[in-house]
Amino acid sequence: MTASPEVRVAIVTGGASGIGLATAGILLEQGWQVVGTDRDADALAAAETALAGHAGRFRMVQGDVTDEAAMARLVEETERDVGPIRGLVTSAGIGRDVPFLDTTADMFRTIHEINVVGTFIIARAAAAAMRASGGGAIVTIASVSGLTGNIGRAAYGSSKGAIVNLTRIMAVELARFGIRVNSVAPGPIETPMVAEVHTSAIRDQWNDKVLLERYGTPAEIGEAVAFLVDARRSSYITGQILAVDGGFVACGLNDK
Ligand code: NAD
Repeated sequence: MTASPEVRVAIVTGGASGIGLATAGILLEQGWQVVGTDRDADALAAAETALAGHAGRFRMVQGDVTDEAAMARLVEETERDVGPIRGLVTSAGIGRDVPFLDTTADMFRTIHEINVVGTFIIARAAAAAMRASGGGAIVTIASVSGLTGNIGRAAYGSSKGAIVNLTRIMAVELARFGIRVNSVAPGPIETPMVAEVHTSAIRDQWNDKVLLERYGTPAEIGEAVAFLVDARRSSYITGQILAVDGGFVACGLNDK
């Protein structure tokens, strides 16, 4: 990758799959240089192939968002080799659908460790770099399960609820450094995570309450993320949680 002070550089965690990969592709189309990171080596290799048309403007780096030293290294190497970081998208995450009474403390800890602590670790490292170089934008990936009391989401939904308020707090504390922080809260999106977790019974439940009567695509989330991370298009937006959910949160108790 070529280092140049003019390039817009974004890090995308969970960049090898689903929403993160789609977002990386859209950012590349919109002229960003992208550093994707993910813990899954096979998915990273597949992502490199999927994004091959943008060769020279992205790199994929293996790393775990819960590893503080690895994330510090990622930020440092990105700034050194590519340029000042102007965007961060935190898509790395895991989900489970388990009734509250069957949720173990280990399960709860693991989900919070990756979804919440992992988001915190990379966001803090990237924000420190953005502060030093004149600002940027962070977009976290929450979930509609962090905005509503969905059944089976004790661990996952509470982790996403934490991301919602972490986003607001970062927006408040980082505005003075020229850093905007927003979140996208997806509804059900067709990704490998959902393929693993959503049984047909779960799919029926979602389709019953999504006003647009279908699951979304990773690109439909990526477009919203790309808007929020782009200082030219969303310069007056910070501290917001944007549900991109086909109308799920608006539907509430109503029949469609
Ligand atoms: P996905 O499984 O396709 O992608 C997630 C990626 O994160 C994977 O490549 C995985 O390897 C990576 N990852 C997991 N733990 C990691 C770690 N510790 N360090 C680094 N990488 C790690 O899933 P997705 O559906 O694209 O999910 C992306 C984000 O969107 C997640 O935060 C998820 O909670 C959120 N989300 C998804 C949906 C949905 O319906 N798909 C809905 C709401 C929110």
